[in-house]
Amino acid sequence: MTYRTIVGLEIHVELSTKTKAFCSCENKYGGEPNTRVCPVCLGMPGALPVLNKEVVEYAAMAGKAFHCTIHEKSVFERKNYFYPDLVKGYQLTQNEHALCNDGYVEIGEDPKKKIGIHQIQIEEDTGKAIHSDERDSLLNYNRCGVPLIEIVSDPDMASGEEAKEFLENIKSTLRYLDISDCKMEEGSMRCDVNINIVNEETGERSAIAEIKNLNSFRAVGRAIDYEVERQKALMEKGEKEIRTTRRWDDVSQETVLMREKYTENDYRFVPEGDLPPLYVSEDWLKAIVDKMPELPGDKKDRFIKEYGLPAYDAGVLTSSRDLALFFEETSKDFPDKNMLSNWIMGEVLRRVDLEEGFDLPFEGKDLVDLLTMVKEGKINNNAGKKVLRAMFEKGEKPQDLVQEMGLVQMQDTSAMEEFVDQVLAENPESVEQIRAGKDRVLGFLVGQVMKKSKGKANPQVVNQLLREKI
Ligand SMILES: [Zn+2]
Repeated sequence: MTYRTIVGLEIHVELSTKTKAFCSCENKYGGEPNTRVCPVCLGMPGALPVLNKEVVEYAAMAGKAFHCTIHEKSVFERKNYFYPDLVKGYQLTQNEHALCNDGYVEIGEDPKKKIGIHQIQIEEDTGKAIHSDERDSLLNYNRCGVPLIEIVSDPDMASGEEAKEFLENIKSTLRYLDISDCKMEEGSMRCDVNINIVNEETGERSAIAEIKNLNSFRAVGRAIDYEVERQKALMEKGEKEIRTTRRWDDVSQETVLMREKYTENDYRFVPEGDLPPLYVSEDWLKAIVDKMPELPGDKKDRFIKEYGLPAYDAGVLTSSRDLALFFEETSKDFPDKNMLSNWIMGEVLRRVDLEEGFDLPFEGKDLVDLLTMVKEGKINNNAGKKVLRAMFEKGEKPQDLVQEMGLVQMQDTSAMEEFVDQVLAENPESVEQIRAGKDRVLGFLVGQVMKKSKGKANPQVVNQLLREKI
C-alpha cells in the first residue's frame, strides 16, 4: 500500500509592536501578572478598541514577504467563545475578509517546492490561565490584546520534514523583518498541525487530526511522523475515526486524544461594530514595502551567485540577518570566501546560540585579522582555532593572543628539520611502514613533530620534510 501524507499548518505569531493591538498597554513578554492591562484589553463595558497602526504595517510586511495579495479593504470580526482567559467573551480577529491571502513559501532546493499560504489575518491574543492546584486557577491578562498574525497554510506539505522546513522559513523571514522573535518556548510562535493520509490505490482518506501543544519544530516533525503511522495502522485494520483534536505529549512522544469533533465549532462570527473596516492605501503599502530589508531567500540566492558559496553554506549564513551581515562585512576584507564561510559555520557558530541572536565578543575585523594570519602561514590552522577560542573567552585582539600564547609559527626550516630528524630517529618502525606503502602513518609522524615544536611548526612544511627524508 502506498499512502500520501497531507499536512497543513496554522501558525500564530505574536508581533513585537511597542503597544498592544487595540489599546496603549505595553506589549512585552513576562512581567508581574495583571500589570499591563487597561479597560480596553480587560473588556470593560463601554471601552472602545483603537487599531494600532504598527500592527497593520507588520502584518502587511509579513504578507508581502510571503507573496500574498494585500487587500485594500479588510474587516474585523468577533469570534465568540467563552473561556476565562478571554474576558470579553469574544476575540477580535479577521475571518472572511482578512488583510492577506494567496501567498506562498518556497522550501527545498533543486527543485524548490511552493507551499501555499491561504491567509494571513490580524487578531488579538488571549490571557493565560494558570492552574495552580486542584481547586484554584489563576488568571494573568498581561497577554490579553497582544497582536497576533495567524498564518494559515494550504495542505501542501507531505512530511514532518517539509513542515519543519516551512516553519524554519517562516521564522527566519519574520525575524529578518524584525516583527517577531518567534520563540516557540515562550509562546510567541505557536503551531497547530492538521494531518491526514490518503491511500493512493483506493483513494480512501483518513479523518483529519488537529494536533495541538507543539512546543518546538522538532516536536512538530515527530508528531507528524507519529500520526502518519497511527492513521496508517487504523486504515489497515479498517477502523474509521471521526475528526479529532489531539495533543502532543513530549514525554511519551505520542499524540493523545483531546476531543472528537462531531461538528465544526460554532464561533458565531459577527462583524465588529466598534472598528471600521481597515483600508490600506496603495501609497501606504508602498511606504511599508520600502522599509523591508532583503529577505533570506533572496539573500541566499545572491550569496550563491555573488560569493560562489555552496547552497548549503549560503542557507546557513543567511539563516539570521545579523549573521548574514557579519559575513558580508568580513568578506569585504577577506578574499577567500570559502575559507571565511567554513570558519564562521564551524568554529564561530559552534559557540553562538543563534536563537538568542548573533552576538560576538569581538569585531568582524578581528576575525579577518586572525584568518589572514592563518592564510599567510604566520600561525597554523590549529593555532588559529586556539586563538579564536581565546577571543571568545577573553575578547582580546588576535595579534596579542598569538604573542601571549606563543603560537607564532616557525618560519625557520632548519629548526623544523631538527625536530623531523629527532622524530625519524625515534620511530624507525613507522619509517619502515611508510616505506612499505602505509602512507597513513605519515600523519602520526607529523603529529609527533608538531608536538615537539609545541604546535608552532608549519604542518605542510613538516609533511614535505618528512617525505623528502624517508
Ligand atoms: Zn490595554
